[in-house]
Amino acid sequence: LKRKGKAAEKLAHPVKEAAVLGAGIMGGGIAYQSASKGTPILMKDIREEALQLGLKEAAKLLTQKVERGRATPEEMAKALSGIRPTLSYGDFGHTDVVIEAVVENPKVKQAVLAEAEGQVKEGTILASNTSTISISLLAQALKRPEHFCGMHFFNPVHRMPLVEVIRGEKSSPEAIATVVALARKMDKTPIVVNDCPGFLVNRILFPYLGGFTQLVRNGVDFQRVDKLMERFGWPMGPAYLLDVVGIDTAVHARDVMAAGFPDRMQESGPSALDALYQAKRLGQKNGQGFYAYS
Ligand code: NAD
Repeated sequence: LKRKGKAAEKLAHPVKEAAVLGAGIMGGGIAYQSASKGTPILMKDIREEALQLGLKEAAKLLTQKVERGRATPEEMAKALSGIRPTLSYGDFGHTDVVIEAVVENPKVKQAVLAEAEGQVKEGTILASNTSTISISLLAQALKRPEHFCGMHFFNPVHRMPLVEVIRGEKSSPEAIATVVALARKMDKTPIVVNDCPGFLVNRILFPYLGGFTQLVRNGVDFQRVDKLMERFGWPMGPAYLLDVVGIDTAVHARDVMAAGFPDRMQESGPSALDALYQAKRLGQKNGQGFYAYS
């Protein structure tokens, strides 16, 4: 896109209103970022409590902004009113871009994307925030795969600048240009990447996390590894990072990576990550993972 410059930018469809499917860690963050940078957004979930949590998190972030003098109470109220929580597809006919951010499971994502495609106008661009799953695979569930690509944010959405825009086999230049322009409008730095398990960042990150679980299997204390990686200069160690990501999401993403790169992601049996998942210790999202949170 950079090389083609202005010509590519011209292909972008205007985005007056967006929607996000899933109001979890990522969906809530995407809704906050979109609304606070001026694009109103519908936030749909299948659970009322998820919608309430997503809104509460957005309100918390906006309050912090006001306290730090980086927004006025009026701006905060305007941004909050830009997030419209919903349990139904009622208003989806007006949306220009729909970002899917539900559980990291290809079958669930395909079903949700196909359902959403049936609810939007013909030119609406669909995007998936999947961490690892092939965009071309997800596109197989769609009637208009050319209107679909990846839009991969990082966690926490309001702080991480990068967004990977993933070009599937059938993604059109218009879909890519629209999502790139939306990412920029959301004050993010988009990079366009080709489709493969984990794309760019997780293709690097997951072998590192695999190295960590291997060390734990060999008896090394996870807290020592975290401290060491912090001393190395990283903002957090791997155990804490996995708690932030969500143990369930990490397990699903790891499985996609292991299937895609069996030579690099081979594990000799269940790991500490699997043990936490079995024990339903899902990380910060439910208060217990490698660490306990109050
Ligand atoms: P999460 O578990 O926090 O939230 C998922 C939400 O989706 C839940 O609120 C759930 O109720 C909702 N949901 C499930 N089925 C739905 C449906 N049919 N329609 C609408 N909502 C539905 O998960 P998350 O961490 O936000 O991850 C969501 C996606 O983002 C995954 O694909 C994940 O891989 C990706 N991602 C996660 C991270 C991270 O660090 N957690 C980072 C980047 C990308």
